[in-house]
Parts: sequence; structure tokens; C-alpha cells
Amino acid sequence: MSDHVIGHWVDNARFRGTSERYADVTNPASGKVTGTVCLAGREDADAVIAAASRAAPAWAATSLSSRVRLMFKFRELLDARKHELAKIITAEHGKVLDDALGEVTRGLEVVDFACGIPHLLKGEFSEGVSTGINVHSKRQPLGVVGIISPFNFPAMVPMWFYPIAIAAGNTVVVKPSEKDPSALVWVAELWQEAGLPDGVFNVLQGDKVAVDALLDSPDVQSISFVGSTPIAQYVYQRASAGGKRVQALGGAKNHMLVLPDADLELVADAAVNAAFGSAGERCMAISVLVAVGPVADDVITGIMERVGRLRVGDGSLGCDMGPLVTKEHRDRVAAFIDQGVAAGAKLVIDGRDLEVDGRPDGFWLGPTLFDRVTPGMTIYTEEIFGPVLSVIRVDSYAEAVQLINANRYGNGVALFTTNGGVARKFELDVQVGMIGINVPIPVPTAYYSFGGWKSSLFGDTHAHGVEGVRFFTRAKVVTSRWPDPAVSASRELALAFP
Ligand code: NAD
Repeated sequence: MSDHVIGHWVDNARFRGTSERYADVTNPASGKVTGTVCLAGREDADAVIAAASRAAPAWAATSLSSRVRLMFKFRELLDARKHELAKIITAEHGKVLDDALGEVTRGLEVVDFACGIPHLLKGEFSEGVSTGINVHSKRQPLGVVGIISPFNFPAMVPMWFYPIAIAAGNTVVVKPSEKDPSALVWVAELWQEAGLPDGVFNVLQGDKVAVDALLDSPDVQSISFVGSTPIAQYVYQRASAGGKRVQALGGAKNHMLVLPDADLELVADAAVNAAFGSAGERCMAISVLVAVGPVADDVITGIMERVGRLRVGDGSLGCDMGPLVTKEHRDRVAAFIDQGVAAGAKLVIDGRDLEVDGRPDGFWLGPTLFDRVTPGMTIYTEEIFGPVLSVIRVDSYAEAVQLINANRYGNGVALFTTNGGVARKFELDVQVGMIGINVPIPVPTAYYSFGGWKSSLFGDTHAHGVEGVRFFTRAKVVTSRWPDPAVSASRELALAFP
């Protein structure tokens, strides 16, 4: 067990818990264990949820302007100190510092959005719907909300949810991935520095035991989950069976469709960034390039040239691509590559034997490119979640769209063309939640909502934007009758209405 123990955070203080279950946290570039994370037992989880429950009434009753002032303060602190957070992310996730900083910056956009929440919490009002009758609506916080996040964006993904949840008057229990648990403890300390009251932002470290405690607790009103599809489906079923509101975002297999008229320099740049950036461990990474007609050879040549210039190494040392998150994950991705070769796909670039100077024990796997992949191969049907790009050749736009729509995932998709009419048609035809036109990773900005279709999202509410505000608030409609005082004033008031 490491001397560096990463515990829970509750009531604005570190909390070790009583479970005595732990997991190693590693630096993926060195392969060394750098910390030990506490894995909550039921009692630990109940203690954290209880703190959030105790804090909920007072936080909901805190004035909107006070809550928003706190959001601004948090935003200011995070913006000033985001480089510290980026370093923590790189040390446990492995992504290069620029990517880590990028993730914090995208998360900050949601904090910006949450600073403007008063506008979205305004109710509606209808006067005189019937004689003497008015109707108005209001939105109120849910209470305690649970957020369960994946390893690949330890700072940004939770930020899709908690700024809006807190600004709307909820208290939060966040369960980070056990692979990179430190980022959220750092964030919790920042909230404390900003002046957030005890119990409003809590961190529960752990695995399935912690997740199940959140799913089953009658004190937790909603679950926002992001992770792989099988777990997303499990979370959705179990939490909704208990009557909770659930948004469970799952895995992805994102296609990039390249038409013969596309700007091929732009295509090659985009494909390399979107397939190999962050070692392909992005839910919006491009993992399949669908080449229509004759473009495939030129696109592959462009990708090979660029991959030749990519520097893979320790993400804290100014490289283009870091290691994979754990040895197990690295080996799993390598096994997919083996399967692709065995199935007859053409391995154009093989990342399996990559070595990095001075880092013999890092979890390395270099950019990998397959050509002539077919839809029945496991490298196409499964989410690999590593730096592996498959090229599928098709004859027509219609064949390409049919392929994309038949895929069980529907998170993101990109079309590369110089024709606006085709782009417009594609927006209508494709069954995917987030679409990029000459943009490879179309992550919506914070005031729109993030979410996929099909097996990429269970539930009906996407993350952040207006949908996020609706998810974290409950609506009430009030119908009131106040008769005309001239007709029915009380004895006391009658004096004022002669
Ligand atoms: P994961 O599903 O293994 O873990 C996600 C969370 O669930 C973690 O907090 C983990 O501790 C918990 N968990 C794991 N197994 C569990 C179980 N059996 N029961 C209950 N909880 C469990 O995902 P990951 O490997 O951390 O992240 C990668 C996955 O997340 C990829 O599939 C990726 O596509 C997906 N992802 C999706 C989006 C999106 O927006 N759709 C965004 C980011 C990541």
C-alpha cells in the first residue's frame, strides 16, 4: 500500500472511511504505483450520502444570488489554477498536458454556463386563465444528486453535471473512476476555498459497491452516469427501477465519413487528431473512417505521413500522445489488434511494439491503422477505446449512411465534404446525437446539450445546456384564485374597497 492514500471528501474534509478496501493508482507513463485509493463500503457510502442529505435543505434555501456568487468565485479560482489540475490528470490518466488542460477548459465552459442559471430558473406566468385565476410554474432542486464518472475525463465529465446541479440548489455526491481519483479531491478543496458550505460537494471513492449504494439509496434523487455501455445500461435499469431520474451515457464507435470532394489535407489532420489524440481514449474519438469511392488511398497516405511525425511519450514532457491508462487496458487494446489481423484486415501501422526511451514500464501502444476493415470484424463491432483507426471502403454515400445507422452506437459522427447540400442531407439522414461537418470531434458547447443516441445514452436527457438544468430541477405548477376584493373582500379589507 502506498503512503499516498486518496480518500473520500465529505463535509469539506478528507474522510478515510472504514472499509479497508483499496486499489492501486498508477502513473501510466512510468508504470509505477503512485497512490492508493480507498474503495468505499456501504457504511462509508451511507455516511457521505447522509452528509449531502443534511446539507440539502439549507443549500436549496440559499438565495439564488448567493449561489451564483459562489459559482463565479469557483470559476475564478479554477481558471487561475487550472494548470495544477491538468498536472494531476496527466499523472494518473496519462494524457498529454495540453489535452489535460483542454479538458479542464471545456469543463470550465459549463461553469460559465452555470453562472447564468438565474435566467433558466425563471418560471412562467399566465394571468387570468379563468376568472380570478392565474397560473405560474417554478423549478426547484431535487435534493441529493449522484454523479458517476469514467476514467477518461476525470475533471471534465463530472463538470458536465455538478456546476449546474449545485447552481440549481442541489447537493452532490460524485463517484470518480478508481483509476484516476485525485482530480475530484483537488476540485473539492477548491470548492471549499470558494466558500461552498459543508456537505454540498462530496466525493465518494470506490467501485461497484459505491455505485450500487448510490443507485439504491432512497436519499439520492437522480443519477448522472458516464461510462461503458454495459454499465450504463445496468445503472439505468437499477436506478430507474428505484424511481430515480437517470441519464446514463454509454460507449461509442464514432465514424468519420469522407466524400471524394473533401479537402484531404484537412481530413488527414482531423483523422490523426481525432483517432490518436488522448490515445483514442475519448468517447468522441474517431475510430472508423468511412472512405467513399477513390479517396481511401490518398487519405491513408496523408495519415501515415502525419503519424510518422507524432511523438508518443510521457504526457508531462511535451509529447503528442501519452500511454494508455492501465496495463490491462493496454493489453486489451493490443488483443483487439491481434483479432483484426487474424480476421484479415490490412494492418498499415502497427503500434503494438512501441517502446519509449527511459520509460520501459509505461503502458505504451502506438497509433495503429487498419485498412480494408469489414463490418463483421470485432475491431469494427466493438468499442476498442485506444489509438486504433479502422478504414472501411464503400462505394457510395448511401452505403456509408446505411453502415453508420446500422451501428449500435450513436454518439458522434463527422462528415468531410465541400458540398453544403450533402452536409444538410447528412444532418437529416444520420441517426447519431452529435454531428460534425468538417469538424472531427463535435462536442457541443456548454449551452447546448451533450449526448448520443441508441446504445450511447440511456434515458432521455442529455448533459448540460438547458437539458441539464431541466434534469437537475423538478417542475411545479401553481394555479391560484384570488377573487376581486371589490366583490369578496374580508370584513377588514372591505373598508379599503368601499
Ligand atoms: P466503466 O463503465 O468501466 O466505468 C465507469 C464508472 O462505472 C466508473 O466510475 C466505475 O467505477 C463504475 N463501474 C465500473 N464497473 C462497474 C460495475 N460493474 N458496476 C457498477 N459500477 C461500475 O468505464 P471507463 O472504462 O471508466 O470509461 C470508458 C468508457 O466510458 C468508454 O466506453 C467510453 O466510451 C465511455 N464514455 C462515454 C462518454 C459519453 O459521453 N457517452 C464519455 C466518456 C466516456
